[in-house]
Amino acid sequence: MMRAAGLQRYQRLPVAPEVFADTVRALGRAGFRGVNVTIPHKRAALAVADTASEAAREIGAANTLTFAAGGSIAADNTDAPGLIAALGEWTPKTALVLGAGGSARAVVWALTRAGVDVSVWNRTPERAAALGARAVARPCPAELLVNCTSVGLARSSRDLEQLSLGSDALGRYATVVDLVYRTGATPLIAEAARRGVRTVDGLEILVRQGALSFTLWTGLPAPVQAMRAAVRDAPTEAPARS
Ligand code: NAP
Repeated sequence: MMRAAGLQRYQRLPVAPEVFADTVRALGRAGFRGVNVTIPHKRAALAVADTASEAAREIGAANTLTFAAGGSIAADNTDAPGLIAALGEWTPKTALVLGAGGSARAVVWALTRAGVDVSVWNRTPERAAALGARAVARPCPAELLVNCTSVGLARSSRDLEQLSLGSDALGRYATVVDLVYRTGATPLIAEAARRGVRTVDGLEILVRQGALSFTLWTGLPAPVQAMRAAVRDAPTEAPARS
């Protein structure tokens, strides 16, 4: 499927921050179509680009770079629309976002832009206040809950406690999304599913944002089913950061 879209391969390339910009420019000259960028390079990705989408500019970070034939680099952020795509036709009226790091910034931006009334809870309250949505002292009820913290990577029995959520509280949400991705369900997703709450896990979010990147690079619809099967079949231990 990648060959049919004119792509040879998709490969992982660890890059040190001090050589990030030079590496990106070299990849463009070497014939790469684009790159997905992860922490800690998302701000640097925006800085190295010649042009940027509104999403990348307003979020202040890019996760997708596209190389044009003339050598210029375009920055985009597909983390934000990836979440909206994963929700399907449904737009909640209210959402609670847990966390105030880079992914929370993108999620708050996407949901607010979609007209959702967004509240943010974070372990460090002053960081929540800086996100431009309503900061709350403790998790409040909403139609949608999105976990944008890194809690869940270590799969501890204290996960819900670290998020200030009792398992009873999960019944207050119609849909629970966990950005954390790893082999098997995170405790948040497992507990929400056990309570009959609709869930969207981090692998689905990863696929959706990757699918949007694929379309930016090729101009073609992404093979979402094949991408989904590939990430779910992969022998994964999730990275500490996405
Ligand atoms: P980040 O910028 O480092 O932010 C981490 C957040 O987690 C902060 O709000 C931090 O709170 C909170 N946190 C960390 N440890 C905590 C604990 N023990 N208890 C409560 N809160 C805690 O990271 P990020 O880029 O936003 O990424 C967050 C997670 O989302 C990562 O696991 C990443 O892999 C995942 N992610 C997935 C996708 C996807 O496509 N599925 C995309 C993006 C990110 P403080 O402010 O108090 O430190």
